[in-house]
Amino acid sequence: MTVYSGPVFDMAARQFGVIADYLEIPHDERDRLLLPKRAITVSCPIHRDDGSVAVFEGYRVQHHLTLGPTKGGTRFAPSVDLGEVAALAVWMSWKCALVGLPYGGAKGGVCVDPMSVSKRELQSLSRRYMQEMIPFVGPHTDVMAPDMGTNEQVMAWFMDTYSMYQGQTVTEIVTGKPVSSGGTLGRREATGRGVAHLARRVLADLGIDLNGATVVVQGFGNVGSQAALELHRCGLKVIAVADHTGALHDPAGLDIPALVKHAATRGSIAGYSSQLQFDPAEVLTLPCDVLVPAAMERVIDADVAARLRCRVLAEGANGPTVPEADRVLDRRQDEVFVIPDVLCNAGGVVVSYFEWVQDLQQLFWEEDEVMRREYQILDRAFEAMVARARRDNVSHRTAAMAIGVEKVRAAKTTRGLFP
Ligand code: NAD
Repeated sequence: MTVYSGPVFDMAARQFGVIADYLEIPHDERDRLLLPKRAITVSCPIHRDDGSVAVFEGYRVQHHLTLGPTKGGTRFAPSVDLGEVAALAVWMSWKCALVGLPYGGAKGGVCVDPMSVSKRELQSLSRRYMQEMIPFVGPHTDVMAPDMGTNEQVMAWFMDTYSMYQGQTVTEIVTGKPVSSGGTLGRREATGRGVAHLARRVLADLGIDLNGATVVVQGFGNVGSQAALELHRCGLKVIAVADHTGALHDPAGLDIPALVKHAATRGSIAGYSSQLQFDPAEVLTLPCDVLVPAAMERVIDADVAARLRCRVLAEGANGPTVPEADRVLDRRQDEVFVIPDVLCNAGGVVVSYFEWVQDLQQLFWEEDEVMRREYQILDRAFEAMVARARRDNVSHRTAAMAIGVEKVRAAKTTRGLFP
């Protein structure tokens, strides 16, 4: 038992156990690799619009600082707790190392339903959370980014709050900012585009014609909507989409640009069409070429894994597949090609890294350069993962995570144990 124990951290720990066994890491070295370096818990009081005071719990977990600053998103959701944030920080570490970024993993969050607060309250909460974090973060210590329930606006408030305390503008303290405030071109689209790029690549390898290939997306926020848009643009047919309000299904293919426009103004897919409504519980198991879970963790359990009817599982969300489901998918390797989360959604942190580099240098890139470099990094990591999986006859997830764990382990070994 640790302070992080709970369903999500236990899942990250079990996944790490599989990797540690495969890499034959001695038991006395495992806790040093798995347990976060630092965890911060804060209370964020704000004035509600009715004059009352409400207090929200916030967290930030920094997994390791061995390779450079920590990096990771900030989640505003009712599910947020210390264990969930710690698990997400651990996954960020393996992800950053896999794709070769000079970062350790971090994650933060506030336990709040962002739909239940007004825009003014959201601004107060965002600013208070960042203000509480100031002693623990910095452009060379820990750099935040958006995640579920946060967006460019929240990042702009974080950056402004930090900068006001420093007495100068420090754009490099967060990534995922609006382009007008030091953000990079292509960050908003980066995670979804990366998911779409890798899914297209796998379809091509499998000899499946992109034109008319079918796609199902769970979660229609930043990651899900951008992945759907990009796949739609490339000629694939997005036949179903789900979010927290329900699901839509059209075997002829949904009009994704129209749906994105609707969701941007209404905050969800609700009210788009009554004819196309569908049972959200059935979405993950619809027959399709590409399934993109892009909402919550732990949505694919062993039962769902056995019933998946996709050819490619492109994990946009973090931790959508539990270890028991992995064992089922290991047996179904010839039927379902898994692009694991640590690789599939890494485009987001890759372009966040580009944003940090551009802010530090005050030298900004064109969008096509951002995309070209993003795809180059994802392709390199994809090839390394596939080669490793083939060589050692392990799953893609084991191969991808093992590459990440090995890099962190090597850095810790060469740096030694302080003091
Ligand atoms: P978001 O807040 O923009 O969107 C989340 C979406 O999930 C919304 O459409 C919401 O309605 C939907 N959702 C929530 N609960 C649901 C449920 N029970 N069933 C179906 N849909 C549900 O968040 P996001 O930034 O798109 O992040 C989504 C996932 O991708 C998270 O796991 C996040 O950690 C991961 N991720 C995000 C980024 C990024 O750059 N934003 C990068 C890497 C990974």
